[in-house]
Amino acid sequence: MGEPACNCRDAVDFVSRLPCTRILKNSSLYQTEPAGERDQPWFINGVVEIRTGLGPENLLDQLLDIESRMGRVRDRRWGPRVIDLDILAYGREIVRTERLVIPHPELHNRRFVLVPMLEIAPFWVHPVYGISVRGLLDRLEDDLKVFRLDTGDYCPTGVPQ
Ligand code: ATP
Ligand code: MG
Ligand code: MG
Repeated sequence: MGEPACNCRDAVDFVSRLPCTRILKNSSLYQTEPAGERDQPWFINGVVEIRTGLGPENLLDQLLDIESRMGRVRDRRWGPRVIDLDILAYGREIVRTERLVIPHPELHNRRFVLVPMLEIAPFWVHPVYGISVRGLLDRLEDDLKVFRLDTGDYCPTGVPQ
């Protein structure tokens, strides 16, 4: 909602100011066709790689805190929102608790996640499936459209390496 690209940049700025945390890599931003409810504006998505001393649970708390400070109100899932900050991966660790699943349980099914990941972490290997981002994209069935925001390029299978 609002100015989604600005919201994403602001969120990255908040993340960069978390304790013991710095941003290593930023993907471009992408315009992405909405999944689920189709009758809503396209989303903006991007990924960042961080180095952090925060453990996974602590990092999740900090991200939820940024979301609420940015004005996110939780109503219907997958509908429009000011910002959504998800932990896609934490190195190659696997976490499964009531409130946290890492790698993100939908990562491998989502073009809007894998395309930006390909830009900054093409060789990250999914610790459950043992498949790289490139490999996950090759196997992907999601045909929702993903365009780079800065160039408008259509990215069916990600940006060539
Ligand atoms: P989706 O999970 O399909 O991307 P969403 O991001 O919109 O949906 P939210 O409403 O942001 O869902 O999050 C709901 C809950 O998901 C959070 O409160 C959190 O406890 C939980 N959760 C589980 N795993 C993760 C993760 N890897 N990253 C962020 N939240 C997670
Ligand atoms: Mg999400
Ligand atoms: Mg979320």
